[in-house]
Amino acid sequence: MTMRDLWEAWLRLLFPVPCLLCAGPLAVGAAGGVCAPCWAALPRLPPACCAACGRPLPPSTPGSEDPRPTCGACLRRPPPYALARAALPYGEAGPVRALVLALKHGRRLALAAPLARLMHAEAPGRVDVTAFDALVPVPLHWRRRWGRGFNQAAALAEGLGRSAGRRVLRRALVRVRSTVPQAGDAAARRDNVRGAFAVPSPAAVEGRRLLLIDDVYTTGATVGECARVLRASGAVAVGVYTLARVT
Ligand SMILES: [Zn+2]
Ligand SMILES: [Zn+2]
Repeated sequence: MTMRDLWEAWLRLLFPVPCLLCAGPLAVGAAGGVCAPCWAALPRLPPACCAACGRPLPPSTPGSEDPRPTCGACLRRPPPYALARAALPYGEAGPVRALVLALKHGRRLALAAPLARLMHAEAPGRVDVTAFDALVPVPLHWRRRWGRGFNQAAALAEGLGRSAGRRVLRRALVRVRSTVPQAGDAAARRDNVRGAFAVPSPAAVEGRRLLLIDDVYTTGATVGECARVLRASGAVAVGVYTLARVT
């Protein structure tokens, strides 16, 4: 125990801090203000999913040859990225949503490091992070980042980059147009983000294999547009890895 731990333990005695998820008592050093049992109990996405967009699929039937078939939506309209994968299921309610909202809107930046470690731990069997040259966070518009103080996707990318030994290209992609919160069908969402991103210096992405990082994959419209712009600027392959995914 360091002096800092002792000091923290003393403060906890005076002012107990509840776990962000279960409101139970928090041990000293609990990562991101969440207790160890809550971290362990977080639901994970099953490994069986669409080869392209990562949509969870029922486990393959015995004897079926393809453990990762491509879903109907991706067959009809192949996405601009090579693959999209996520670690956690993002439900309408529940702990994953609570963590994402706390990170994004509650300014609980201390959550970024343990969530990035979780992404690193969950990567095997989902996405080979080391097969990519660098990580690229989905950018926020400067006005929104200014209001929020940080970009949660960049914070996750920095943590994952440290764990996986990959560079993070924070300026590879910028948001040139602020978009209204997304609604509507897939086509409306694609229109909503069209022209919202740009690559300031194509030399930084040319010939590279890039892994886009974001907090939540909803319909894939945002990461799809990011991938399209990166590919148009010369990136040879673009993958997507998000902390969570709407199922
Ligand atoms: Zn807890
Ligand atoms: Zn799919």
